[in-house]
Amino acid sequence: MNDSRIRQVVIVGGGTAGWMAAALLAQALGTGVAIRLVESAEIGTVGVGEATIPQIRHINRFLGIDEDELLRFVHGTYKLGVQLNGFTRPGDSYLHAFGDLGLPLGLTPFHHYWLRAVQERGHADAQGLWAYSLNAAAAAENRFAPLETVPDNPLGGIRYAYHFDATRYAQYLRERIAPGAVQRIEGKVVDVRLRAGDGFIESLQLDNGEIVEGDFFVDCSGFRGLLIEGALNTGYENWQQWLPCDRALAVASAPGGPMRPYTQASARTAGWQWRIPLRHRVGNGHVYCSRFISDDEAAAQLLANLETEALGDPRPLRFVTGMRRLAWNRNCLALGLAAGFMEPLESTSIHLVQSGISRLLAMFPDRHCDSALVDEYNRQTRFEYEHVRDFLILHYKATERTDTPFWQQCGAMEIPPSLARRIELFRRTGMVFREGDELFAETGWVQVLLGQRIEPERHHPLADALTTPQLDGFLADIRTLVGRAKNTLPAHHAFVARAAGSPVT
Ligand code: FAD
Repeated sequence: MNDSRIRQVVIVGGGTAGWMAAALLAQALGTGVAIRLVESAEIGTVGVGEATIPQIRHINRFLGIDEDELLRFVHGTYKLGVQLNGFTRPGDSYLHAFGDLGLPLGLTPFHHYWLRAVQERGHADAQGLWAYSLNAAAAAENRFAPLETVPDNPLGGIRYAYHFDATRYAQYLRERIAPGAVQRIEGKVVDVRLRAGDGFIESLQLDNGEIVEGDFFVDCSGFRGLLIEGALNTGYENWQQWLPCDRALAVASAPGGPMRPYTQASARTAGWQWRIPLRHRVGNGHVYCSRFISDDEAAAQLLANLETEALGDPRPLRFVTGMRRLAWNRNCLALGLAAGFMEPLESTSIHLVQSGISRLLAMFPDRHCDSALVDEYNRQTRFEYEHVRDFLILHYKATERTDTPFWQQCGAMEIPPSLARRIELFRRTGMVFREGDELFAETGWVQVLLGQRIEPERHHPLADALTTPQLDGFLADIRTLVGRAKNTLPAHHAFVARAAGSPVT
């Protein structure tokens, strides 16, 4: 019998995606598979990506990473959610907090009880919903501790992610890999050789003439998609009609101001601006649509909205939102920016790398890369990307802003039927359902739908089972539980200083 096991995996790219793939594959595959990673200092990495979502903590468990040590290395802080400012109307603000909203009664999600209360009283003040989220209550007072469960309290605990320096994260993962488990090759890939017949990738040629052979190739080469596109011409599905921003300017500013345990995303005239507190600096960036604003004007808006002094000139980045038609083609899998990019509004890119690697491990092939397996991988990837895409589009589509041509266009755009259906169902019934394994849970959808002022006409009929005094008592109890748990949490900056042993400025 032929042994068709994969013996050699070659990763191209040493950005966040490349080193995440190297660390996770080395841990999972052990010594039976040789892993090599080719990176080029001359080309460099994209070097942005400071906000994450809670799933990143699974990597720590898998690799045995100590959180405090990691956060010291990456200058990290904690993240409880994203504050979205001005997306619906100028002056509006809401939080997409991770974690639970209240407590369900039986099978009926909590937000229906809250909806019933506000509907019976004749007003729907979406802000009020956040009094029932421990993450939101903590964020409002800049408090944080990694409270997995709340003692003597039925509430779920705090659900958190990190803010960090993504370049340092890649370095950290690189340093943690067991000696000899991954061979790093410095060099620039100048040619990709395909096998006659099936067109599988056979080898890479580097600028120094070296040939790197492999059975399976992981393309982490960034936007250029050197293997998946450059060699295999896989094609890219453009989503700019829904996610029109195509440029960004990133700049660090001096530390200062409150150390907020959440990312801030604030709408601007033709896009939005992020603010992310790290320990040693604040990360800022302006994501915008070049059809509606010049680079100079975008830079001026960014700099005018910093809380502290800029630590350099804004660094420009260009991108096209969308996804590769196939993330896996023949014996090549694309991860990270090589697989697609949907803009950083909900900090999903690093997570999509992580889930791509998990999916690869679950479907690890032999050298033939059975087409049924490849099709399944691509089907699941598309499902994941399209659901994230819909969630992001919601932030733009559900705007009431007409003050600039950019926002006028966002409000008027046609949206994918999958999202239109979801918005309509919520508007008419208050119901929203997580589909399959999609990334964002019902609580995330509810917060963004309500935060964007989509007010349901009704609530779930089962929420009528309580009498009005019972309903008021139930809601009051949860507010009390949330408030009590929140009061046990220290200030975020104090927790960072204590847990990670570094001075807080
Ligand atoms: P890159 O960082 O571009 O790395 C590419 C690698 O390929 C480099 O090592 C390069 O040397 C190598 N390479 C390329 N060509 C060759 C060649 N010919 N030979 C050898 N090596 C080669 N993600 C989040 O999760 N949260 C965020 O908040 C976030 N913010 C973002 C903001 C912006 C404006 C942008 C553009 C992205 C953001 N991202 C964010 C995405 C995040 O930065 C990326 O997903 C992540 O850094 C992974 O990048 P990468 O490794 O795929 O590509």
